[in-house]
Amino acid sequence: MTKEKIEYYRKLGLKMTPQRLAILEYLEGNTSHPSAEDIFRHVEEKFPSMSFATVYNTLEALKERGLILELSIEPGKKRFDPNTEPHHHMICERCHKIFDVFEDFAVNLPEKYTKDFKVKRCEVVFYGLCKECQEKEV
Ligand code: ZN
Ligand code: MN
Repeated sequence: MTKEKIEYYRKLGLKMTPQRLAILEYLEGNTSHPSAEDIFRHVEEKFPSMSFATVYNTLEALKERGLILELSIEPGKKRFDPNTEPHHHMICERCHKIFDVFEDFAVNLPEKYTKDFKVKRCEVVFYGLCKECQEKEV
């Protein structure tokens, strides 16, 4: 991570410990939508003494500052997305991989819903089977 980037996080009030840096580095450009457990398992390899609370607190701090999104797509498991641009998702119901959908498409709600409610944005989740899991299905 560049010095500028570290400085940027510091200015946002994030204490930058080596563990935190490792968490941020893991998240940077990560498109796998990891859970807190996934992040913990990854960073623990480098910092075996790190506690789960460190990951949890870091994710909370990032969330508060709008630097990551918390997704409630997978039932019972929070997943995190460092890409905070508005986008949709697809989730594989078998392997739980989450894919990004960066596409603008119209979701046409019947008028009975929109006559008294002004829709500003929407996030769609597509549930299904990924390519790999479809091939295994036969
Ligand atoms: Zn799958
Ligand atoms: Mn995403």
